[in-house]
Amino acid sequence: MQIEALSEKPVSEQSVSEQIVYMARRMFERRLTDMAGGNISARAGDTLYITPRYAGSRQHWQLTAAEILSGPLAGEGLQRHPRFSREGQAHLAIYRAFPEVGAVIHAHPFHVLPFCVAGRPIEPVLEATQKFGVTPVLPYAPAHSEDLARFVVDGLRGREATLRKQAAAVLLPKHGIVVAALDLWAAIDALERIDWNAWCILSQGMLPSSPLAYAVELP
Ligand SMILES: [Zn+2]
Repeated sequence: MQIEALSEKPVSEQSVSEQIVYMARRMFERRLTDMAGGNISARAGDTLYITPRYAGSRQHWQLTAAEILSGPLAGEGLQRHPRFSREGQAHLAIYRAFPEVGAVIHAHPFHVLPFCVAGRPIEPVLEATQKFGVTPVLPYAPAHSEDLARFVVDGLRGREATLRKQAAAVLLPKHGIVVAALDLWAAIDALERIDWNAWCILSQGMLPSSPLAYAVELP
C-alpha cells in the first residue's frame, strides 16, 4: 500500500483532491468511519471529485490525490469508471437535487451506528448540534441501490435552510450516515459534531443515578 506524505501546503490552499485525501485520513483516525466503507466527495463547478471504491477495506483511507476520481457531474462518464464508489450514486443524486451542496460524506461513525441499528433518530442534545435539527432515519433500502439514493434525497428535502447554514444529515438503517454540506470543511465538522452528540446520548445510561454513588468515605 502506497502512503503519500501530506502536502506541505496549508490544507486550505490544497487542491480539491488533496483536501479529500486529508479529510479521509482525519475521518478514519477519529473513528468517524471504519474499514468497511464510506466515501467523500466534493463539487467544484460542474466537476465532481470522489474517493474511489475500496478506499476503506483495501487502503484503510490512506489515499493519494492521484487516486481521487473526478469527472463531470452530468452524464454517465464518472459512473462507468471501474473504481467509481458503489455509493457514488447517492452522492450524484444529492448534487443534482440540491445546488447549494458542495460536499457529501457517507460514513460509518462509531457512535452513530447504534442509532442506525436501533432505527432511532438522533436528537440534537448539544448546543453545537442544534443547527442540524433532528437527524432522521430513512426507510430501509439495500446498500448501493437506486432506492437508497432516492430515499437520501427525499430525506434531505425540506431541510434546505439547514443545509444552507452548514449541513444536514440522514441515517441509513443498519448502515451509516450521509452528510450533505456546503463544503468539505462543513461536512466533516458536521459529521464529528453529530457523532459526539450521539455519544452524549449513549453515555447518559452510564451516568450514576446520584453523583454521590461512588463517593469514598475518608476516615
Ligand atoms: Zn456504507
